[in-house]
Amino acid sequence: MGTATCVCGEEPKPAMVEHFSRWGPEGQRVLVTDVPALRCVRCGMVLFENDVAQRLEDLVRGAEGEPLTIVVARYGG
Ligand SMILES: [Zn+2]
Repeated sequence: MGTATCVCGEEPKPAMVEHFSRWGPEGQRVLVTDVPALRCVRCGMVLFENDVAQRLEDLVRGAEGEPLTIVVARYGG
């Protein structure tokens, strides 16, 4: 954990967000819910701590091969 500063200069506040990304050759969409993040109250930019970003990457990769077009993973398990 650490104090991060948004590019706009505002200090982001802790927030629970949804993370949406594409993965795989077929462009599967992966939606991860309830992700702890820092969100800037001024511009809305979302920042993830390094360990959270790593876990998100693992979750998204874990969706590889899923037949569904949209995969929903819950961060908290
Ligand atoms: Zn900002």
